[in-house]
Amino acid sequence: MRGEREIVVIGGGPSGSAAASVLARSGRDVLVLEKDRFPRRKVCGEFLAGRARGSLARLDALTAVAAEAEPIDRASLHLPRGRSVSFALPSAAFGISRARLDEVLAAAATSAGAEVAFGMRVIGLEETRSGSVRVGVAGAGGREETIPARAVVGAWGRWNALDRTLDRRFLRNGGRFFGWSGDYDAPGDLLRGEARLYLFPGGYAGLSRVEGGAVHLAGVIAERAQRRLPAGWTAVVAHARGSNPALDRDMALLRPRAGDGGFLGTGPVFFTRKPSSEGRLLMAGDAAGVIDPYLGEGLAVALESGILAGEILASAFAGKFAMGEATARYSRAWNARFSDRVRRGAAGRALMLHPGAARVAAALAGERLVRLAMGSA
Ligand SMILES: Cc1cc2nc3c(=O)[nH]c(=O)nc-3n(C[C@H](O)[C@H](O)[C@H](O)COP(=O)(O)OP(=O)(O)OC[C@H]3O[C@@H](n4cnc5c(N)ncnc54)[C@H](O)[C@@H]3O)c2cc1C
Repeated sequence: MRGEREIVVIGGGPSGSAAASVLARSGRDVLVLEKDRFPRRKVCGEFLAGRARGSLARLDALTAVAAEAEPIDRASLHLPRGRSVSFALPSAAFGISRARLDEVLAAAATSAGAEVAFGMRVIGLEETRSGSVRVGVAGAGGREETIPARAVVGAWGRWNALDRTLDRRFLRNGGRFFGWSGDYDAPGDLLRGEARLYLFPGGYAGLSRVEGGAVHLAGVIAERAQRRLPAGWTAVVAHARGSNPALDRDMALLRPRAGDGGFLGTGPVFFTRKPSSEGRLLMAGDAAGVIDPYLGEGLAVALESGILAGEILASAFAGKFAMGEATARYSRAWNARFSDRVRRGAAGRALMLHPGAARVAAALAGERLVRLAMGSA
């Protein structure tokens, strides 16, 4: 067993790196355990909302992200029968691949003084009577070890075996989705400065540019709808293109990126609020609640909730309140800041997944409704 660490952060995605940066900057001893080795691809629309600007600045990552990212200032929604609504975004967003974004944020956490250990999968958690948490890890070659920590941030994303270990209730929720993504080359200025969202029966997909001129496709489909299709993501994309002429027209101009390894798929995604703390763990990012991807806010909220978890733990370590109070304070703050977005996402999803309803709503309330649903009103 290794010596005790002050804080272990499980997961080196945006929320974990954000929490680690804040804690390390406040002088704490922080170890981030990340199962993958960066850079790596990850299913995501790779659209980082402009509201993340403040968080990126706080994490000392704004200059690096802004220098590489593709600026996006417009969006459009394309309904299955050809109707579309375009609008300006409230502030310019960043198109940046997860391979680069996560690498930049992890590097910022390291520069802040955190230790980021890659290839380290957390496989077990045990709270002890003395108030610490024993974190079970499988490292290189499957070698297992235990790391005791005084506090733990759970930032392992939308789904992991750890959710089952902790028997988290959302796993019993039947409304499961699956997501996929892929990269393309585009001719000329196609999609420059614009994110496009396309609805199809049972799901939706988005196209936008990322750094280096690549166009990124990502989408989600309800498990129920996917079961009716032949296996594989190619069949899902064919179904989406076959039901949405605008998507078909745009994709006909794209060429799959050579050597990108084809489509990448997710495990099950539960669009749901989850407890923002589990025992003595503070949960951040998707581990505390998955915001519907069409809102394009999951990454921004992951950064904000990671920063919030870091701030609350830093205050507890500084003696401003007892460590045992940190989870209750965090849950209250999480609810106040993020619950409405999970609710708004769910309300809009009901329209997104039933294109007939979306068509009627768009006809009755038009652009204003779409802008409201997508949070840009
Ligand atoms: C199809 C789709 C499209 C999306 N598009 C967008 C978009 O365009 N814009 C947007 O803002 N949001 C989007 N999202 C949401 C966004 O991807 C998430 O909100 C965001 O990734 C959450 O960040 P996170 O740090 O909480 O988790 P993650 O990014 O999932 O990071 C978790 C990290 O933890 C690591 N990990 C997991 N388990 C363990 C373990 N046991 N031990 C060690 N490490 C572990 C993982 O390897 C990973 O690096 C999309 C989601 C989907 C499904």
